[in-house]
Amino acid sequence: MAVPKRRTSRSKRNIRRANHDKVTPVQLIACSNCGEPVVPHRACAACGHYKGREVKASRKTGGEKS
Ligand SMILES: [Zn+2]
Repeated sequence: MAVPKRRTSRSKRNIRRANHDKVTPVQLIACSNCGEPVVPHRACAACGHYKGREVKASRKTGGEKS
């Protein structure tokens, strides 16, 4: 198995990570029903609407993080 000859320097490691380990902030769109900021492709947390129809009734439903 190939083994690296030299340890990657802090500089080289940081340059690599700066280029493709970027964390992009969560994009938000306005809900088509109530106008609340919503994560795209997810039902609205405030009114429970998705794609023009109601998907869930209440504000608090299990199975979601944060
Ligand atoms: Zn909504």
